[in-house]
Amino acid sequence: MRLILLGPPGAGKGTQASVIVKEYNIPHISTGDIFRDNIKRDTELGKRAKEYMDKGLLVPDELVVSIVKDRIAEDDCRDGFLLDGFPRTINQGEALDAELEQMSLELDKVVNIDVGVEILIQRAIGRRVCRDCGATYHVEFSPPRTDGICDICNGELFQRDDDKVETVKRRIEVYNEQTEPLIDYYTKKGLVLNVDGTKPIDEIFEKISKSLMG
Ligand code: ADP
Ligand code: AMP
Repeated sequence: MRLILLGPPGAGKGTQASVIVKEYNIPHISTGDIFRDNIKRDTELGKRAKEYMDKGLLVPDELVVSIVKDRIAEDDCRDGFLLDGFPRTINQGEALDAELEQMSLELDKVVNIDVGVEILIQRAIGRRVCRDCGATYHVEFSPPRTDGICDICNGELFQRDDDKVETVKRRIEVYNEQTEPLIDYYTKKGLVLNVDGTKPIDEIFEKISKSLMG
C-alpha cells in the first residue's frame, strides 16, 4: 500500500498516520519529523531546514526531494509506505511521480484531510508532542492522562517552535498557495479520497480504512 496524506498544517495527518501505519504495517515517512530529528541532532540539514521552518516557510524542494527518494528506496518500503507532509509542492509531486515510475511503482491513494482555518489554528496551538517517542496530543481535544507526560513512554511533552499562532497562520497561507494545488493534481489522476477532518479521530480512520479495503 503506497499512500499520501495531504492536508493543511494541523489537519490531523500525523494523528491518522500513526494508526494507518499500524494497521497496514508500513513505514511512516514524515518529512517534518525527518527535519525535526536533524535539528535535534544539529546536522547540516537540520540547520538549513530550521531557517525555513521557524518562519513557517517550506524547506526548498531540492533538500526535500532527495531525502524522500532515498527513503522510499530503502528495504522496509518494499511493500509500501505512507508519506505524511510530502509532497507539498507540484514540483515535489512531479519528482515523486518520476521516481515511482522509474521504480515501476504506483500510488494507491491520496487521502486529503479537510479542516477549516479556525479549527486548524486551535489544533496547532494546542498540539503537544512527546520529546522521546513523537506521539501527538492536544491539550483540549486529545489530552494525555497526566498533564505534560506521554501516556505511551512517560516522555516529556513539548510545544513545537512553529506552533505559535503567527507562524501557524503563515504556514496555512503557504499551504493554500503551494500545497493545495496538489489536490487537483491527484484528483485528475483519480487517486483522491476526501475526508472531513473535523470528525472524531476514530471516525476519520474508519472512513479511510473502508476506502482502502474497497
Ligand atoms: P498534522 O500532522 O496534519 O499537522 P496532527 O496530526 O499533529 O496534524 O494534529 C494536530 C493537532 O490536532 C494535534 O494536537 C492532534 O492531537 C489534534 N487532532 C488531530 N486529529 C484530530 C481530530 N480528528 N479531532 C480533534 N483533534 C485532532
Ligand atoms: P510538518 O511536521 O509536516 O508540519 O512540517 C513542519 C515544517 O517542515 C513545514 O512547515 C516545513 O517548513 C517543513 N517541511 C516538512 N515537509 C516539507 C516538504 N515536503 N517540503 C518543504 N518543507 C517541508
